[in-house]
Parts: sequence; structure tokens; C-alpha cells
Amino acid sequence: MYRTNGFLVDGHADILLRIEEEGLDFYKDRTSLQQSYHHMVEGGVDLQIFALFVEPEHEPPAMLTRVLQYIETFKREIADGKRLGAVYTYQDVLENHAKGIKSGMLSLEGGDCIQGDLRILRSLYDLGVRAMGLTWNNGNCIADGVGEKKDRGLTPFGRSVIREMNRLGMLVDVSHLGERSFWDVLEETRAPVIASHSNAKAVYFHRRNLTDEQIRAIASTGGLVGVTFVPYFIRDGEATINDLLLHVDHMLHTAGEDAVGFGSDFDGIERTMLDLRNGSDYPRFLEVLIKEYGETVTKKLMGENWLRVLKQTLK
Ligand SMILES: [Zn+2]
Repeated sequence: MYRTNGFLVDGHADILLRIEEEGLDFYKDRTSLQQSYHHMVEGGVDLQIFALFVEPEHEPPAMLTRVLQYIETFKREIADGKRLGAVYTYQDVLENHAKGIKSGMLSLEGGDCIQGDLRILRSLYDLGVRAMGLTWNNGNCIADGVGEKKDRGLTPFGRSVIREMNRLGMLVDVSHLGERSFWDVLEETRAPVIASHSNAKAVYFHRRNLTDEQIRAIASTGGLVGVTFVPYFIRDGEATINDLLLHVDHMLHTAGEDAVGFGSDFDGIERTMLDLRNGSDYPRFLEVLIKEYGETVTKKLMGENWLRVLKQTLK
């Protein structure tokens, strides 16, 4: 299997959700998770972004409780500083890499738990949260997700959230956002925007995928789109690396080689791709990318683009 010395970033996985719900162990349960320490080592993943996702049936105060529990689990059970170090600054990524350990960064998926209070956003930042997907598919105090027919755009509070995230140095993630909210964010932000786990609508029409205009707009902020391994965002039925390649190819042509990365959504999906089933399968994907686009472009896609955005955004 092909090995590259490039830095590999996975921009989105729901490992913490499965650890909480199923009592799994990031270090001991080698393969029951789609992304575990074992898979990170096996697949050569250097930095994993850990989503803090709580099912929308909970009320916002209960969601906040869950999020705090996830953060504690991440710090106590995962970021031990010996095998994986938590990332608060760009320097942390470099230091972990120099020490030969993995990196993990927290990202809130859906800002419902902020409950219209910037003090809660700032507290979560203080606890180590460095990115936020503004909504899941439903709407909240910030904006509407793709599942809301009303698609009302950013709320006034949502606009203040974007300004505060820019000020703090938090990545603004637009995956899951309704289209009007998306354009409001683009108008409001002064920093690069990411879509951590979304594919191209022109290749496969799904509400969670992005239009060409959206992909180009994200690129124009200096941000990136993390192509995602969710089979039902790739095509009808089973999906393979060759099917995912159509999305990568389209994004490269639409937005250029500086605006594409990966965001697997491992452990957030019940059905996986056939040949990219977990973190250990990353080398297969890289092998295909190298053949298709060469080493320089592959290194950008696998991590250099993510690192550039992190360097520019994190304080
Ligand atoms: Zn998601």
C-alpha cells in the first residue's frame, strides 16, 4: 500500500458520540469504531477533528450538558498527551507532530446548546472548542439547517456569533446549513469558511451537498470543502473510491486545488463506502489520488489545505 510523508487531516468524525452511546474505548476498541487510535495509526491520520454532536430531540440545556460531558471524555480518555494531544493553537499541531503523536481538535456540530448567549460560546471556546458547524439539519438560535423549509437565513444573534467566532479564532463550518443561511454567513464572515463534510451537488443531487456557486464562494474566502465518505451523499446505492473521485474531480475543477480537503464523517454513518470503510483505509484513497493528480496536489488535499486554514484562523 502507498505511504506518503504528507500530513493527513480528517475534518469530521463522530467518534465521541459513539464512545458515549456505546461505551466504546478510543484506544482499546481497535476496530468497532470507524475511527479509533488504531485506525489513525494504521491509516496515517495525523489530525482528527472530533465533532461534538447531540441528537436534535434533546432540548438546548440538555444538549449543553451532553456537550460538556463529551468534552470531558475527550480530555480524560482521548487527549492523553502521550498518544494524542489536544489542539488549541496552530503551534500545538506542529508540536504534537514533532513529538510523533497524533492531534485532536474539538468542533461543535450545531450551535443549539449556545442558547442565544455569547457567554456560552466563549466558555466552550475556553474549554477547547475551535470550530463550529452552525446548525445540524434543523434550525436553531443561529440559523436554519438544510432540513428547514423556511430557510430564514442567519438570525441577528447568528450574525453576532459569526463576528465573535472571527474574533476568537474559531473555524466557521457551513456544512448542514440552509442555502440562505449559507449566503448570510459568507456576507458576514471576515475569515475563511469551511464545509467540513459535504460533496458536490452537480455530481450527485442531495440537500447536504453544495452547489458550484457555494463551492466557489467557500474557496474565495480562503477556506475549503472536506469531501465526505458518506455513501448516500456520493451516489445512489453502494459507493466506492472511484465514485468519490468524481466529487473530488468536480471540486478541483470548480474551486481549485487549494480549496479541497477530507471530512470522513466516520462514526456518524451506519453504512460506509465499500473500500473506504474506516480510518485504516485512507492509504487506498491516497494511492488513487496520487495516480490521478500526483503527489503535490494529493498532499494539499490530504492536509496542507486544512493546515493553511488552521494557521490562518486559530489564534
Ligand atoms: Zn454532520
